[in-house]
Amino acid sequence: MKFVCLNCNYRFESETEYTGKPCPYCGKKEVIKEPSAEDLLKGVE
Ligand SMILES: [Zn+2]
Repeated sequence: MKFVCLNCNYRFESETEYTGKPCPYCGKKEVIKEPSAEDLLKGVE
């Protein structure tokens, strides 16, 4: 799974669920799953 930090835009991959844990780069707990291309397409509606 890919994750992205909303605070600093740091992107990284983790094999496990990472939501709720702090960003390894800036330490902010604003880490979300990176939206897939498919999800972005759905959001256009
Ligand atoms: Zn960060």
